[in-house]
Amino acid sequence: MSIQSSAASKPKVERLPPLPPQDTVYRRIRKRVHVACVLAFVAAPFSNLMRFDVPRQRFYFAGVELWISEFAIIFFAIMLLMFVIAASAIIHGRIYCSYACPQMIFSEWSQSVEAWAKRMALKVLKTASPSLRKAAAAAVFYGVLLLASVFLAFVFTAYFIEPRDLLGRLLRFDLATVGGITGATVTVITFLDFTFVRQKFCTTVCPYGYIQGMLQDQHTLLVSYQDGQGEDRDCIDCKKCVRVCEMGIDIRDSAFQIECVHCGDCIDACEDILRKVGKPGLIHYTWGDQPKAVVREPWYMRWGFRDAKRVGVLLILAFYLTGLALALSLRRPVLVEINPDRSIMFRVLEDGRIANLIRLKLANRTGKPVQVRLWVEGLPGADLALPVNPVALQPGETFERTVELRAPMGDDGQDVHHIRILAQSNAARSSDAEELTFITPLKRK
Ligand code: SF4
Ligand code: SF4
Repeated sequence: MSIQSSAASKPKVERLPPLPPQDTVYRRIRKRVHVACVLAFVAAPFSNLMRFDVPRQRFYFAGVELWISEFAIIFFAIMLLMFVIAASAIIHGRIYCSYACPQMIFSEWSQSVEAWAKRMALKVLKTASPSLRKAAAAAVFYGVLLLASVFLAFVFTAYFIEPRDLLGRLLRFDLATVGGITGATVTVITFLDFTFVRQKFCTTVCPYGYIQGMLQDQHTLLVSYQDGQGEDRDCIDCKKCVRVCEMGIDIRDSAFQIECVHCGDCIDACEDILRKVGKPGLIHYTWGDQPKAVVREPWYMRWGFRDAKRVGVLLILAFYLTGLALALSLRRPVLVEINPDRSIMFRVLEDGRIANLIRLKLANRTGKPVQVRLWVEGLPGADLALPVNPVALQPGETFERTVELRAPMGDDGQDVHHIRILAQSNAARSSDAEELTFITPLKRK
């Protein structure tokens, strides 16, 4: 009875319709891109997507093992990578910094771990003193960061030293070799960086922000605050855009602040606040500091291709990409170099045959054992004084030797014979051919 009367007297609550979903969700998008970038960063050295093997002097790109002597491919790969970053700075400002840079990704992650450790200490040690909670949170934070630093330093160093080799050095606590010392030094730097420096690195040490300032123009993507004046001003001065900014700036001061990494967190924050009073946000991604376009632009303009300079950037990118593709397609899995050694012109053997010296270099650039067969054309009865033919080469092995090319003395009255030495490996579809001369003494008539 009493329950019925209390239910009857309960005031009726008029609920407002739920707010529509927020238009801008850049933080969510950014965090998804972060996950993809971390996976790529970790996977790249282990899958040979991109890696320099300094001790073995090899460069791995897209799973292909390149020798340091394969300059064209390495040149085009590095130029392409550098130009992609420069083009991204011209067209999309510092989007790379906030969406893909490992420094920003792990700085933000370290801040999240610190906040999580404080929350956990508050939850678990409810009755403990504030100083004990603070000490516990710090211990958890530094412990997690130390383990993460060992892992990150391992991944980073694996870009330069073969991962299995590096793991062996780590397990032996190797502090005697260059590889071991490098790994330990990178671990300490990583720990200090993500514990104390974090985004301060972006505004003080990193040259990319300064270079970006030089590269940007009136069409570069920016984050800008756009509001009316006086009575028409919509900003309620809640400062949420300032509080969420991890670079510690107020975007309302200018769209051209060097600290701004164009992350879009302030866009989400302002949209979230003003949406509650039925107004659109005041901060937007814009091309230059022009007002946000009110009509939907064609796709190429929305992607940032807004003038002839951008088309030029695209053409240069296409040039490096084509150069890289061409260099990769012309690459031979087994290197064959055949040159004459003219330290002596010829030698007459005991059996009356003539020998010339040939410098031979065979290198297996594949990941599998190969056999290379060599033969001579244009010189009847000629043979190469190889220990075995075909020559067996293990992955990465180089066979380098000066060998005799022997042939019977011809009766054609010539002392210079034009010949070809051919090499065919079971890893290549066609043979390599080198044109040489074989010199014999002139037969007196
Ligand atoms: S001002 Fe906005 S876009 Fe720029 S760094 Fe701060 S939160 Fe990111
Ligand atoms: S979040 Fe928007 S409304 Fe609030 S201070 Fe920043 S610009 Fe003004």
